Amino acid sequence: MSAPGRLVLVGTPIGNLEDMSPRASAALAEADVVACEDTRRTGRLLQRFGVRAPSLRVVNEHTEADATVALLARLAAGDTVALVSDAGMPAISDPGERLVAAAVEAGYPVEVVPGPSACLGALVLSGLPTGRFVFEGFLPRKGSGRVERLAEVASERRTVVLYEAPHRVARTLADLIGVCGEQRRVVLARELTKLHEEVFRGTLAEAAARIEETEPRGEFVIVLDGAPAAEEATDDDVLGALDRYRAAGASTRDAVADVAHDLGVARRRVYELANRPPERADPVRPSGRSDSEEDR
Ligand code: SAM
Repeated sequence: MSAPGRLVLVGTPIGNLEDMSPRASAALAEADVVACEDTRRTGRLLQRFGVRAPSLRVVNEHTEADATVALLARLAAGDTVALVSDAGMPAISDPGERLVAAAVEAGYPVEVVPGPSACLGALVLSGLPTGRFVFEGFLPRKGSGRVERLAEVASERRTVVLYEAPHRVARTLADLIGVCGEQRRVVLARELTKLHEEVFRGTLAEAAARIEETEPRGEFVIVLDGAPAAEEATDDDVLGALDRYRAAGASTRDAVADVAHDLGVARRRVYELANRPPERADPVRPSGRSDSEEDR
């Protein structure tokens, strides 16, 4: 029986061809078919590294569904399928996710030959916390999807990594200022691994000013510091907010829900405070007897 087919995800350079690993070249040379976004671009890469061109198959956002069916047939025939994108890691803001999911679902082995990715490159040189981070890729371009995602990004406590096209960087920085304020720290990583690599570190306001004064060219990653921890609301904050909602006519049930949401505290805590009996003043003691006498 022939060996089962396997899918190999191969990372390729994001600008500097010296970053192509020997293992990546070998994986492409061994593959029966290389799935890629652009046959001319990948053809040049293969030529540069002396890899005899196996068959190339286009997988892009328009063809991924059909290509997945065709590539699963190759896996079923026992072929080794390598997947690359134009640059960096496939399936990271690039085609591949659907093919990988289908291969996993069908039970084929999936391997990775890791390579550069602009996300991790920008994150590690940003100087911002790397212990926990989220990758957001490209924000939705417009509409409610963009508004909602911006709100999520603004309240995210972990470092956020965003991709952006050069002609949209100014717009995105302006929108980030709108939701995060001017002072949030940000890093713009431009043209990583290339001749004109540049890293700008500052506040959102400073980054926006910088982009305004220099025409943004090349490829950009925006790395945004996480939102500062909100200060825990005190009991007085909660009681004050409850009073305001009740004074405006809200039922206790609605006031509890609204206050819990507004102050980001547990509904149970708000409920207990809402139902706490009011504190009474100390009862007046009969004159002539001290506490100590009473206690004796
Ligand atoms: N798959 C790629 C990866 O692993 O990074 C990302 C592909 S995505 C279509 C292209 C975006 O990645 C660009 O718009 C830019 O935000 C970012 N990018 C790619 N190469 C870059 C580089 N050399 N410097 C900075 N950003 C880069």
